[in-house]
Amino acid sequence: MQSKSYKPPSIAIRQQAEAKLKKQAQVGRNKGASSEESAKKMLHELQVHQIELEMQNEELQQARIVERKSAQRYTALFEFAPIGYFALDMSGTISQVNLRGASLLGIERINLAGKNFLNYIADQHQEVFKTFLVATFEDEGIQTCEILVQLDTRTLWLSVEAKFGDFGTDCLIALIDITPMKEHQTQLEHIAHFDLLTNLPNRVLLSDRLSQAMLHCSRNKQSLAVVFLDLDGFKAVNDTYGHDLGDELLIALSVSMKKALREGDSLARIGGDEFVAVLTDLNTVEDCEPVLERFLLASSEPVTIDNVVLNVSASIGVTLYPQDNVDADQLMRHADQAMYVAKESGKNRYHLFDTVQDDAVKVRRESLEGIRSALDNHQFVLYYQPKVNMRTGKVIGAEALIRWQHPERGLLNPIEFLPVIENNPMMIELGEWVIDSALTQMSQWQAMCLNLPISTSVNIAAVQLQQPDFAQRLTTLLAAHPDIEPRYLELEVLETSALEDVNHVSATMHACMVLGVNFALDDFGTGYSSLTYLRRLPAKIIKIDQTFVRDMLHDADDLAIVEGVIALAKSFKREVIAEGVETIEHGTELLQLGCDLAQGYGIARPMPASDIPAWINDWKPVASWQR
Ligand code: C2E
Ligand code: MG
Ligand code: MG
Repeated sequence: MQSKSYKPPSIAIRQQAEAKLKKQAQVGRNKGASSEESAKKMLHELQVHQIELEMQNEELQQARIVERKSAQRYTALFEFAPIGYFALDMSGTISQVNLRGASLLGIERINLAGKNFLNYIADQHQEVFKTFLVATFEDEGIQTCEILVQLDTRTLWLSVEAKFGDFGTDCLIALIDITPMKEHQTQLEHIAHFDLLTNLPNRVLLSDRLSQAMLHCSRNKQSLAVVFLDLDGFKAVNDTYGHDLGDELLIALSVSMKKALREGDSLARIGGDEFVAVLTDLNTVEDCEPVLERFLLASSEPVTIDNVVLNVSASIGVTLYPQDNVDADQLMRHADQAMYVAKESGKNRYHLFDTVQDDAVKVRRESLEGIRSALDNHQFVLYYQPKVNMRTGKVIGAEALIRWQHPERGLLNPIEFLPVIENNPMMIELGEWVIDSALTQMSQWQAMCLNLPISTSVNIAAVQLQQPDFAQRLTTLLAAHPDIEPRYLELEVLETSALEDVNHVSATMHACMVLGVNFALDDFGTGYSSLTYLRRLPAKIIKIDQTFVRDMLHDADDLAIVEGVIALAKSFKREVIAEGVETIEHGTELLQLGCDLAQGYGIARPMPASDIPAWINDWKPVASWQR
């Protein structure tokens, strides 16, 4: 708005200049031509100045037009933006909304003004949005959140960005409808966690639920059962009637199995015809039995699809936590193992995982691994126990006895590791190592020119002796030590070694004896058929078991056995040696009974090979034995 006296600056300046010019012209007339010159110059300057001013005026007009257009454009942008904008005060009251904002909520703009935005937010997000608003007004930055909007006929997921600062006393929030994205996300999550065919949870969701249930269990001092179910005869259904019918059957069974569960239990499909249920809140093992029975019933009931009656059943494996105190993955594996037992024992039944048995299997596996590594790392050593003739006082040889120089547990006796590999191929490998090491040791002793060749005996395990090519392998081993005469090698076998096939073992022994090697029947008298073996097996020596020898001084029965074995040996023309001679009295008694050869702690304990030469040197025969 302009007042009446207002004149644009250019007009005012021009009037001033003309007045000045007139005045100067007046003066010029008085002062002459120079004044006139200067007046003309001024007039020219004035004209230039005027042109400049007019140009400025033009620019100003243009700027105003641009500004107006920009404001219009901004309003249009705000109004027609594909993003919904709302201006809200701190309580959420709407002061302004654009078209998109109104259409997002499906409410006329006029009906939105003055309303509170919180009215449209779903209950579960009320607090979230209030906190969000507070943060927006307190913070200069941009806040973001996602909220669910609850409208009369539908719900919407909105992504919200808010800023406060440039919009007067209100904040401006920008809303984008992310409902399709959220739906897609939910769909993806469903696919990731549920089986498409049966709509049951899949393996991923199951292990999640199982871990949670385990936590819950531990907190409440209760048990849970992991039930692994595999259908019996499902493959036949698939093969006979096709996969579509098979699928239908799976759907039908999953429905009836789900019905067999209690509330709070969950059922998942983890593969073709494999299901896993987690039964929670159990106080005793028996608590899960009714469910298992119902499961068996549900899965074995005939199902009719397309006029075809289908019959399958289920093999179920169960393990209980925390009785089976392992992690979720292991629990599933244990239930799976138990399911296999149920299958193998005839199907259509359940089997409870046996933790004690599993522990034993685990310990055994670890022991086997330990022994394997000991072999690879050369942790086995041979100790030698001297054998003497008590009557003559001569050292007649030594028995090689294996020890495990364990890096942590120290020196281990054979009882601690041999039983683990009794029927394992490792026993053969270890046995061959023993023979080879003993032969190497004998070479070394021989080279040291001890005053006698030391006959050495090694113990042979049953699996080793029963190998079809044992004699052949022994030949190879002996060939590697040509300096040792085979007659100085003695093989100690337990009479029970021949248990499975006396004929074959006997033939093997004969083949070895042809090589020059001798045999001793170890621990004689402890087996069930000692006499049979004595008759059938060509052993040169009989070793009376140490248990009889040890107690013969005060146990008449043991004494009788020792006497009997000595008499047997004589009549079968075999040599006899007593093990377990712990005292001089034992030796004295044995000599009286006619057994001259002995081995035992009373003479020497098993010792490292390096101690043998010194022991032989120092050995003083017992004087009373030689009288
Ligand atoms: P074995 O062949 O009857 O060996 C005699 C066992 O009795 C040895 O135990 C020895 O230390 C022990 N002993 C010797 N004298 C006495 C004594 O006066 N009193 C007592 N209480 N014990 C005595 P070790 O070394 O523990 O061996 C136990 C068994 O392990 C052996 O019984 C043998 O059957 C087996 N074994 C040892 N080394 C080997 C091996 O290299 N291969 C195989 N396959 N078995 C072996
Ligand atoms: Mg022996
Ligand atoms: Mg023995």
